[in-house]
Amino acid sequence: MSNIYFDHSATTPVDKRVLETMNPFFSDIFGNPSSIHGFGQKALRGVDKARKEVSSFLNCQDEEVIFTSGATESNNLVLNGVIKYLEKVGEKKVGSGDCMDISKEDAEAIKRENSWKNWFKKDTGENKFHIITSSIEHKSILEPCAELEKRGVEVSYLPVDSRGLVSAEDVKKAIRDNTVLVSIMYVNSEVGSIQPIREIGKIIKKINENRYKEWQKSGARKKEPKPESVYFHTDATQAVNFLDCNIERLHLDFLSLSSHKIYGPKGVGALFVKKGSNIKGVQVGGGQERKIRSGTLNVPGIVGLGKAISLITPERREENNKYIGGLRDRLADGLLEKITDIKLTTDRESATSSHAHFILRGAEGESILMSLDFEGIAVSTGSACAAKDLHSSYVLKAMNVSVEESNYAVRFTLGKKNTKEDTDKLLEVLPPIIERIRKMNPIYKK
Ligand code: PMP
Repeated sequence: MSNIYFDHSATTPVDKRVLETMNPFFSDIFGNPSSIHGFGQKALRGVDKARKEVSSFLNCQDEEVIFTSGATESNNLVLNGVIKYLEKVGEKKVGSGDCMDISKEDAEAIKRENSWKNWFKKDTGENKFHIITSSIEHKSILEPCAELEKRGVEVSYLPVDSRGLVSAEDVKKAIRDNTVLVSIMYVNSEVGSIQPIREIGKIIKKINENRYKEWQKSGARKKEPKPESVYFHTDATQAVNFLDCNIERLHLDFLSLSSHKIYGPKGVGALFVKKGSNIKGVQVGGGQERKIRSGTLNVPGIVGLGKAISLITPERREENNKYIGGLRDRLADGLLEKITDIKLTTDRESATSSHAHFILRGAEGESILMSLDFEGIAVSTGSACAAKDLHSSYVLKAMNVSVEESNYAVRFTLGKKNTKEDTDKLLEVLPPIIERIRKMNPIYKK
């Protein structure tokens, strides 16, 4: 039986060099990095090194890196933390009556309303905080957004086209005076579509600059509080291996990433928080990570994340993209040639080099997955988190793929350890599997 893994979007194996770097930090260098004695300081040096490795990858400052338990936590933290800050500020200002530079009468009026919602952008008639995201984000964005909606925050879910792409122009149109955060993923985990993050970043930067200029020009400085910035966050979990994540170039305020997608250990990730961005920690306690994320640091995990990210130099990334992309093309071309009535969901130019997501009409994704698993080949029908969820894919639905067609979806995501032999094995094994499954499908007629 084979032992072939084509599910690198779900997770990646830990690189041997990463494992070696982590090893001493389990029992030899075991101190708590918050302790001031030698044991603690030794562990802290490991964390500091990892922080530098992450910051140099992102081109940010060391203190702008907040370690978390993974991208799920980073995503939850940014959404809830930005809103928590604004709510707290609102409460404080309203409660104390010292609303920055707001006049006494205004402060009194706001106090009477006794609500931060009426303090915020009161002259626009927009009383709620507004977040913009896309309809194809990971659940760790969509679920916190749904919770925030229940608390009165407005959320706009932008559509995508048939390739799974958000339009930067749509983001621009959706921004309102009360928009506080735009969160658009860099790469979609299911179909691999790459979003125009730099373009969106530029648009938001311009809007913030204009807001500030208008505020300065209006002479309302004494009366009105300084306008809030629209913050820009991207969930870069699926992008780090393949794309440039320079936060300056992309004009980002926040970025989430996860170690286990980049050949590092599971249960560790990071959130880039641009200096000066207003965010409040949601998990409170010991005040670690600039009070943004309390909790004793996962030292071996963090050291592993640092090593894993340090291995993704621009040159290696290019090499990997070439190598993995070559294998992906071999696999995709082979399937398109050998199997009829199939389609590549997102075209290759719009997806990362590792992704090939197919609709194989008449053959249910679940059946394909199980038949291939029987042969020792691992693939997926979509994102790992949703694999057990029998509802059809919300990502494909947003891309206007019918419910029937989305049942026929299979995702192949390749990694640096895959070989030509792996793809050739799949090309040998899959066509007869599809034929067999189609024969058993009474509604399938070619
Ligand atoms: N965002 C994206 C785009 C993902 O693919 C994943 C993992 N499937 C996550 C967030 C969650 O990451 P983690 O497993 O580190 O919590």
